[in-house]
Amino acid sequence: MSDINFKDYIRVIPDFPQPGIRFKDITTLLKDGDVYRAAIEDIRKAVEHLKIDIIAGPEARGFVVGAPLATALGVGFAPIRKSGKLPGETIQASYDLEYGNDSLAMHKDAISPGQRVLIADDLLATGGTIATSMNLVRQLGGEVVGAAFLIELSYLTGREKLEGVEVFSLVTY
Ligand code: 5GP
Repeated sequence: MSDINFKDYIRVIPDFPQPGIRFKDITTLLKDGDVYRAAIEDIRKAVEHLKIDIIAGPEARGFVVGAPLATALGVGFAPIRKSGKLPGETIQASYDLEYGNDSLAMHKDAISPGQRVLIADDLLATGGTIATSMNLVRQLGGEVVGAAFLIELSYLTGREKLEGVEVFSLVTY
């Protein structure tokens, strides 16, 4: 594991996108190539024992974590998108966010039955996004073996929605 204190590279923006929310802005981490690479490398080391076949990640910041992690592990990446964005045949599931709600979709052929799947996102808050992502992957017959995040907001207890799944977060608030 690297000796970088990743929190030093995450900017906290008060009252975004609504009053009272302290938004964890990862753009300040992403713009530093060495720190971004070290973050992905630390996650890779933490999850490589799970023998993952494919990574799934929800847009948009789940792509920023999931796609480089997939290439680092030498596995594929399956995008989870807001409904109406994917061009092929999809399955859908609705979800609540820390603020607002929406619905997510995956291509029906994104995951093959029996594949070992890791779900990646930038941040675990209430767990609504990741629970919906797990629901989609499981509908397709994938086995969710892990979940990985840059950031976990432990006071929102999203981890409780991930029972039976190995959870790794680089940084916890
Ligand atoms: P949850 O569904 O666990 O409540 O919220 C997590 C989702 O909301 C993630 O997809 C994440 O991108 C987004 N999110 C919520 N709060 C924050 C935040 O403070 N910073 C960032 N970067 N994303 C957030």
